[in-house]
Amino acid sequence: MRYISTRGGTDPMPFKDAVVTGMAPDGGLLIPERIPDVRGSLDGWRGMPFVSFAQAMIPLFVDDIPKDTLDGLIARAYATFDHEEVVPFRAVKGLTGNHDLQVMELFHGPTLAFKDVALQLLGQLFEYILEERNEHINILGATSGDTGSAAIAGVRGLPSVDVFIMFPEGRVSPLQERQMTTIADENVHCLAVQGSFDDCQSLMKGLFADSEAKAGLSLGAVNSVNWARVLAQIVYYGYASLKFAGPDPVTFVVPTGNFGNVFAGYLAKRMGFPIDRLIIATNDNDILARFFETGEYARGTVHHTTSPAMDIQVASNFERYLYYYFDEDPVRLRGFMEDFARTGSASVGVPPDTDDFLATAVSEAEVRETIARVFSENGYVVDPHTAVGLAAASRFRLPGVQICAATAHPAKFPEAVNDAIGAALASHPTLEALKDLPVRKTVIPATTEAVRAYLDAHTTTPRLETER
Ligand SMILES: *Cc1c(COP(=O)(O)O)cnc(C)c1O
Repeated sequence: MRYISTRGGTDPMPFKDAVVTGMAPDGGLLIPERIPDVRGSLDGWRGMPFVSFAQAMIPLFVDDIPKDTLDGLIARAYATFDHEEVVPFRAVKGLTGNHDLQVMELFHGPTLAFKDVALQLLGQLFEYILEERNEHINILGATSGDTGSAAIAGVRGLPSVDVFIMFPEGRVSPLQERQMTTIADENVHCLAVQGSFDDCQSLMKGLFADSEAKAGLSLGAVNSVNWARVLAQIVYYGYASLKFAGPDPVTFVVPTGNFGNVFAGYLAKRMGFPIDRLIIATNDNDILARFFETGEYARGTVHHTTSPAMDIQVASNFERYLYYYFDEDPVRLRGFMEDFARTGSASVGVPPDTDDFLATAVSEAEVRETIARVFSENGYVVDPHTAVGLAAASRFRLPGVQICAATAHPAKFPEAVNDAIGAALASHPTLEALKDLPVRKTVIPATTEAVRAYLDAHTTTPRLETER
């Protein structure tokens, strides 16, 4: 399987190059040259445990890693999960009348968020590919709090990778900071920048604009547009659909920010898994919900909500879906993306005519009410991101089972959860244990010079080698 760019300007490349490249060189996103059809395999796959199913499905997209090696990488990635099913399910009653609603718990990885499903596998793939090529990369990232820990957990301890995560000093929650700064591995570097998250992002931009510094840094490496992350996420859509589809296919409800998670569900549907609709659930940041209602993709201002991982106005993975929406025509896609980049808005003219998606936005009041109601009717505590999904699920009654993605453990967002329930119930032993661990971070001024000096002093390994 080779990978091409949504913008049509990149030569097809094999999987391993797609993984280490991240973003396509022409500025587009990488997608598989064709989408495999799995309908002939479904009967044989039904009932398989999660890891075996992943080992059967992922090779359809990977033909440049030997099968037994790939099996080992997949097994190691999910050995870090704290539930034997890796992705377990929980029935939730009440919200959808007597209609079946299942919560798909994607948060059993090391940082208790769904990003672990993708980043644990991505870390394994990176190490294998870089080791084979005798390369080393330095990953630089900036986080406002939510995503840094999953990236760190994906690559901690890997000999071929150093990771440098910048966050605004004093402006991420103490819990989020502990999830990053208590990691003891030598290849993990937490930089507490004396400034805002915007400052951290400007520093990133500055460093990457500077070609000398860029030679040793890989930004595309772990961010949400990396194809391998989408691939890892297809697995649970396929797995869940085989588990719950009866005569009717299943519907997924997905709390959405960058469109990465739900896009994996779309590909699973196109591959032939028994999936009917994908319901896109957004918080007050409703650019995607507005697109599916009106056909217009227009940037708004970012609203801060209790589901911060979805406080996003421009969905970085949406371009992949638009490519298929435009019948795989890179010229039309480029036109749309250029309009959007220039004016902050672009339109397909009419509300998209799609059998694939429904979209709806959920208010903060509904999130709170949903957390309280799910607890009172089921004794089950959900996080605010999951509650966005569950509130959206309650608005639809489609045939077949509805499966809502639970993207974080409630203990990651204790204030909002405890406040909605009226009791301090959001906790998790993994997070409690962090309170006793030593913290390691370097406080650093918000200047490019300071960050570069730190990088120079701490990148002992050769800078990105190009010999292949
Ligand atoms: C990243 C994230 C999301 C959004 O996922 P996308 O792939 O960006 O749509 C939702 N919930 C949580 C907890 C997340 O960390």
